[in-house]
Amino acid sequence: MAKTIRVEIIAVGSELLSPHYLDTNSLYLTRIMNELGLPVVRKTIVGDDAASLSGCFRDALKRADLILVSGGLGPTEDDRTREVWARVLNRPLVFQPAVYERIRRRFRRRGLTPTTSNRKQAYVLKGARILPNKNGTAPGLWIEATGRTVILLPGPPAELKPMVQDLVWPRLQRRRRGFYVRRVLKLTGLGESVLENEIVDLYPKDAALSVTTLASPGQLEIHIYGWSDKGRSALAGKAHRLEKAFAERLGDFIFSRNEESLEEVVADLLASRGKTVATAESCSGGLLSHRLTNVPGSSAFFLEGVVAYADQAKTERLGVPAPLIHQYGAVSAHVARAMAESVRRRSRAHFGLAVTGIAGPGGRTPTKPVGLVYTALAWDNGTQIEKNLFPGARDAVKFQSSQKALDMLRRHLLLARAKPARPPRNRARRTLKGHRP
Ligand code: ATP
Repeated sequence: MAKTIRVEIIAVGSELLSPHYLDTNSLYLTRIMNELGLPVVRKTIVGDDAASLSGCFRDALKRADLILVSGGLGPTEDDRTREVWARVLNRPLVFQPAVYERIRRRFRRRGLTPTTSNRKQAYVLKGARILPNKNGTAPGLWIEATGRTVILLPGPPAELKPMVQDLVWPRLQRRRRGFYVRRVLKLTGLGESVLENEIVDLYPKDAALSVTTLASPGQLEIHIYGWSDKGRSALAGKAHRLEKAFAERLGDFIFSRNEESLEEVVADLLASRGKTVATAESCSGGLLSHRLTNVPGSSAFFLEGVVAYADQAKTERLGVPAPLIHQYGAVSAHVARAMAESVRRRSRAHFGLAVTGIAGPGGRTPTKPVGLVYTALAWDNGTQIEKNLFPGARDAVKFQSSQKALDMLRRHLLLARAKPARPPRNRARRTLKGHRP
């Protein structure tokens, strides 16, 4: 059996010790190591001062076989990763004209000249392999020393990730110790406990697989993990069979099996059917249109979004009759209907989506609590209105409102597609133990 490789990750940067910055590089690197079957045994965050760095690097060398270091490769005074490793490993730093030329070319393309401090980035530890940085100036370094491997990577995730994907991942393949699969199912419209009851008998008995459910307001996720030191295909088959069992049980409560967001799924359904949507929002404050327009290519299906917050705006911008608002209140099924139908008619979109509610913390009335939100979907020959009571703080209510509106549209589009082929009972109308989507 191949020897275990112990991996340590070190994130360098004093800012990562402040409450303002999160060390996300370590999470990404851990995922990559997991996929290679290499156990991460320790993660460290260390500030920029030389003494802390050198202590941290020396300790890691005593314990780990593979050390991944992110950050501190930049041009500034406090970027010391390279220098400290040179001292710890007792190796000189050698100026590499080819590296400096790359840096110069990069600056020239943007009409700039490198400063003297950029020269520092062209110093390479003797014997190290250079990992060119296609998204920044600091190259990474791959160092073999005293039977250990040390890989120095730039701090910005947009530089680190492509470098790992293109240059580190392929070189680590021959050290692979296992195979890893991960499948993610995303759901909406179900509570966490209902989900748990529904799937508890499907949890795997096979030790190669594990299942975790994650809940956040408006969304649930089932993560299936599989690990094997034998081979990928049998493992992938097992994970696939489990995923299928979940999918059959949960039906259209699942909106994604490929890690897409709900807005991406809706965008795809709209674009593939040549349909368009317009939005009229009150308490979600534009979040619904923001999410839809986050999807690249949204001009193919998104026509317009109106944020009509005040009653007057609902009347002036959308033509919601003032007496209707007066009689039923702005947070009512009647007004939600009028908003969805009006924005659809005025924009000449296929669908109108509307949200009106009380996001809190203020604004409640004796009959209308915080979290009461009406969502409406209008199409050519009908309007569906849902009354929702969303838990949580203001941002959670806003998110759940947009999530519900998107899900109404998703279900409508799925149902429309399924109509000729399958009776609705088998698809979008499926309910779980009487739970209504
Ligand atoms: P640069 O050439 O940009 O200076 P560098 O390798 O010196 O690269 P740092 O100066 O340490 O990188 O960090 C640059 C920025 O990258 C940080 O301000 C931070 O936004 C981001 N960053 C650094 N380390 C991490 C980390 N572990 N996780 C997430 N982001 C990070």
